[in-house]
Amino acid sequence: MATGAPDLPAPQTDTGKAHPARVYDWLLGGKDNYPVDEAVGRMLPPQARDGARQNRAFMHRAAAWLAAQGMDQFLDIGTGIPTEPNLHQIVQRVVPTAKVVYADNDPIVLRQAEALLVSRPEGMTDYIEADVRRPDRILEHARKVLDFERPVALSLIALMHFIPDDQDAHGIVRGLLDALPSGSYLVLTHASSDIFPELARQVTDEYARGGIRLGFRSRPEVARFFEGLELVGPGLVTAPEWFTSPPEPRPEDSGIYAGVARVP
Ligand code: SAH
Repeated sequence: MATGAPDLPAPQTDTGKAHPARVYDWLLGGKDNYPVDEAVGRMLPPQARDGARQNRAFMHRAAAWLAAQGMDQFLDIGTGIPTEPNLHQIVQRVVPTAKVVYADNDPIVLRQAEALLVSRPEGMTDYIEADVRRPDRILEHARKVLDFERPVALSLIALMHFIPDDQDAHGIVRGLLDALPSGSYLVLTHASSDIFPELARQVTDEYARGGIRLGFRSRPEVARFFEGLELVGPGLVTAPEWFTSPPEPRPEDSGIYAGVARVP
């Protein structure tokens, strides 16, 4: 008989250092952040807040679109601090039996993960604290919940610009896609380095001062994530241009690339 397995250590929350999930929460007007995160947020140009909102609104539309296609399995990496509606709430409105596996590497997301785990009874949600740079771990876990013989929607929303080129961002995404069967989807958004180069530099510098490395990418570099896939709808566009009519606000105001593509 096991005698008193040691308790798992409580997730560590470092309130002295800015975290991407908490800065993003502040940009969205949330309350789950600390002064150190707000300090980074306040130094950013105002367009950063627009970008966060446009990104989240794209997630809502893309998730609803995928559910409308009948997708019922989702792997969402870089989930962020729960913000209603979360992805499972959107897709389970359309497909109540949908299963969603969430993953994020920030302990603060784990601390609030209960909000991600309130699934409709017919469906299922699951959470793993994991780093996208260890895709093998995420896939091993996801296979316990999702059936990889059937299509899975992989969402990497506002995540990959936290993985600079020296950490093999494209190789990581390729590895995840290789695990998905035909009919699966990739949903990806990414901060642009080339729409507003000066703003992008400013944002990258402010995050760096807060101790967070960013690797914004140009359109061709973001397009590479979709290589070999079939982009749907309007293709690779800015977030407010993706399935909105008319695009709102004006697409030229957005520095966030967004796309949804099918695995052939
Ligand atoms: N996808 C959500 C949140 C985006 S914020 C949305 O678009 O609304 C980016 C998230 O990525 C944060 O929660 C941050 O903790 C997470 N993240 C950053 N680097 C990561 C990594 N290496 N592995 C996993 N998650 C990471």
